[in-house]
Amino acid sequence: MAHVPENVKQFVCSSCNVVHAGTPIHQADGTHSWEEPPACGACEGEEFVPMEQWIRHHE
Ligand SMILES: [Zn+2]
Repeated sequence: MAHVPENVKQFVCSSCNVVHAGTPIHQADGTHSWEEPPACGACEGEEFVPMEQWIRHHE
């Protein structure tokens, strides 16, 4: 049975604002951390902002 994390962390491309899902990284203690994509699929930008920060930034 595949374990799918419930809350996928999302990253927003700082160049074009396309949202990407993070890659779950399994930790030794059974939790997950999230790795941002290596590059944006839309503009090939390499800078991402975590969704929660992006929302705050745009309030
Ligand atoms: Zn982009």
